[in-house]
Amino acid sequence: RSTIAVPKLKMSDGREMPALGLGTYLGDDKNGMVSPEKELKDLVVKAIDIGYRHFDTASIYNTEEEIGDAIEMKIAEGAITREDIFVTTKLWNTKHKREDVASALWNTLDKSGLDYIDLYLMHWPMGFNDDYSFSDVDFMETWRGLEDVHKLGLVKSIGVSNFNKEQLQRLLEEGSVRPVALQIEVHPQLIQEQLINFAFAENIIVMGYSPLGSLVERFGRRVPGPKMEDPLLMELALKYGKSPAQIVLRWLVDRNVVPIPKTVNPKRLLENIKIFDFKLEQDEIEKINRFNSNTRYTEPSFWQTHPHYPFEQVKEPIPDPFRA
Ligand code: NDP
Repeated sequence: RSTIAVPKLKMSDGREMPALGLGTYLGDDKNGMVSPEKELKDLVVKAIDIGYRHFDTASIYNTEEEIGDAIEMKIAEGAITREDIFVTTKLWNTKHKREDVASALWNTLDKSGLDYIDLYLMHWPMGFNDDYSFSDVDFMETWRGLEDVHKLGLVKSIGVSNFNKEQLQRLLEEGSVRPVALQIEVHPQLIQEQLINFAFAENIIVMGYSPLGSLVERFGRRVPGPKMEDPLLMELALKYGKSPAQIVLRWLVDRNVVPIPKTVNPKRLLENIKIFDFKLEQDEIEKINRFNSNTRYTEPSFWQTHPHYPFEQVKEPIPDPFRA
């Protein structure tokens, strides 16, 4: 049985992040699983067997426990050590008060059985009360909370997700510890050129979520944008002997973005990691860039009146699922 070696990227704090992660937001899929706990644990075990070393989760995903169980099992088997694994998880929006960060993290450590987290991200810059009414907690206060748990050694590195350029800039100016990573939506229809360039200039690693973009169904349906059978992606797939999905994942890697594709399918799990034995040419990267249409799939417009909403406002916000 051969294990695929995933390269690592150096973060500004000197630590290293594997250049591909497994996304574990299962959303409604989890409800469809016969036994989510067992199935996800088995999947993560399989992922470790084939070479995945980086797992992306969040307290809101409810997958921290299964990931932790799988890691514990593989360590007990002697297949890996804790240091081989990189776990990214995220602080939820209702835990933004400085004093709530440590207790939220303890809850994560408790659930996962891990004694530290590799990368702890503030999931969104917006804070909420328990009933999802807007709280006036500023994200800099929350960042102090992340700095606290970093100082305690409970998290090795800290960063943010879904911050825009201005918010990131403020974090860099006012924070004591620099964020090492920014997790944002990146795919051929949302290439994020400016935000990525800004992050790179500040030595911040970018992790790209929803990397497969319009290639796969979103909200259970086909969406506009390139599909698996797109002529350009097919041409590149043929040239490199890869699938269109692998071409798109490699496009992120070649832009130095860490893709975190989610799959619960063992065949696609293997497919998504087999992207480190080829490389796209610069003009091929640029051709894929031209799919850009600034389309977001994660756009919580129901929060758009929050003072720290990170994205552009839309005319007709969708109803708030958290306050249904
Ligand atoms: P992805 O781009 O990873 O797409 C996932 C979908 O693609 C699933 O339906 C999966 O189905 C399918 N799929 C995966 N691989 C292939 C393949 N090779 N060929 C065909 N279909 C494939 O989008 P996500 O939105 O799930 O994002 C990935 C991860 O990013 C999340 O799991 C989460 O960890 C993170 N995320 C973070 C956010 C944030 O706010 N920070 C927001 C959204 C996501 P199947 O499982 O059946 O293979």
